[in-house]
Amino acid sequence: MSLDPDTLAQLLETLRRFVDDRLIPREAEVAESDEMPADVIAEMREMGLFGLSIAPEYGGLGLTTEEEMLAMLILARAAPAFRSIFATNVGIGSQGIAIDGTEAQKARYLPRLASGEIIGSFALTEPDVGSDAGSLRTTARRDGDGYVLNGTKRYITNAPHAGLFTVMARTDPDQPGARGVSAFLVEAGTPGLSLGAPERKMGQQGAHVCDVIFRDLRVPAEALIGGIEGQGFKTAMKVLDKGRLNIASACTGLAERMIDDMLAYGLERQQFGQPIAGFQLVQAMFADSQAEAMAARALVLEAARARDRGEDVAMAASCAKMFASEMVGRVADRNVQVHGGAGYIRDYRAEQLFRDARLFRIYEGTTQIQQTIIARQMIAGASAGKRK
Ligand SMILES: Cc1cc2nc3c(=O)[nH]c(=O)nc-3n(C[C@H](O)[C@H](O)[C@H](O)COP(=O)(O)OP(=O)(O)OC[C@H]3O[C@@H](n4cnc5c(N)ncnc54)[C@H](O)[C@@H]3O)c2cc1C
Repeated sequence: MSLDPDTLAQLLETLRRFVDDRLIPREAEVAESDEMPADVIAEMREMGLFGLSIAPEYGGLGLTTEEEMLAMLILARAAPAFRSIFATNVGIGSQGIAIDGTEAQKARYLPRLASGEIIGSFALTEPDVGSDAGSLRTTARRDGDGYVLNGTKRYITNAPHAGLFTVMARTDPDQPGARGVSAFLVEAGTPGLSLGAPERKMGQQGAHVCDVIFRDLRVPAEALIGGIEGQGFKTAMKVLDKGRLNIASACTGLAERMIDDMLAYGLERQQFGQPIAGFQLVQAMFADSQAEAMAARALVLEAARARDRGEDVAMAASCAKMFASEMVGRVADRNVQVHGGAGYIRDYRAEQLFRDARLFRIYEGTTQIQQTIIARQMIAGASAGKRK
């Protein structure tokens, strides 16, 4: 559903005020405590942030991909930990159900994900299986009227808070690759489910990841997403296409915020009797950052519009994720540089955002994996004579 221009403008203005007035002032507190305040989460729920992408019939706002990216560009101006708490419900924690789920699965889970009553996590990575996700080892053995899951998932975002896990597991042991994988919905509290201790991370304090362990965990057959075995890897890839656009918009929004920060500091900080913003070598850091952030914004919004037109965006999503996550790393580095010594000191946000931004080049497919996806599609297109 597309919002009318006035409603969209109002929504984006409300989000901007929320970010500026409610989130950015709490960044230091969240980074220090490594906790997301309950009142912030409650406000996010009230504003409908957990349901941005979920269809209105299930209680969400039902934004188009482009509208969702416009919202994310603003929400991502605050330190990424804030986005992380609702982003799995908007993206990887709900989209398996939204895209490939049965009607019963949608009716059971989407309203609770949209309201933020439960947090959804997406569990693909394992201790020995990261980039080569198709070779995952967690098993789901058919047993009577259900399945029995065994295995460990690693670095699962929001797992300590999750009420629902989308779990990719191998249903066909004779198919070692992606075709033997199915996707399951596992509720927190199911006997046989346990969690590891939250990991101590480089950045994004306030957002939590941990292991998710399945020991003879039994789920009913209705927990199989779409009710069809062997489709789980395809579901995961569709979820990640959308997830990568989300990450790209998160990178771009954060870069835009850091550009504002470096400009503000550059105009205020005086050296050699003038604001450092007057020095051309400092201006080069502003200009390079601005051009790159504008390019990333154009890329992510064009890919979002293509998805809304029903086009296959696998390559565009990888291009957007790769470019934007590398770009935000460069902008974060320049932001530290513009701040000079202050950029290296904890009390200033430049240091925190530099560490926070580093994750974007790693999760939901590393830069190297995006490169392989993009090149594979280029070569396939050229071989089929389809390259324009
Ligand atoms: C904070 C955090 C949150 C996360 N959240 C989630 C989550 O919610 N759900 C989830 O399922 N996973 C999650 N992950 C896992 C993340 O997606 C993986 O860490 C990532 O995909 C890389 O896998 P890996 O760590 O096993 O690295 P590896 O796959 O071991 O890669 C190591 C290095 O080798 C390179 N490499 C590997 N294969 C190739 C290749 N074919 N060609 C070239 N280079 C290659 C990689 O690019 C990388 O540089 C999270 C990770 C972190 C750190």
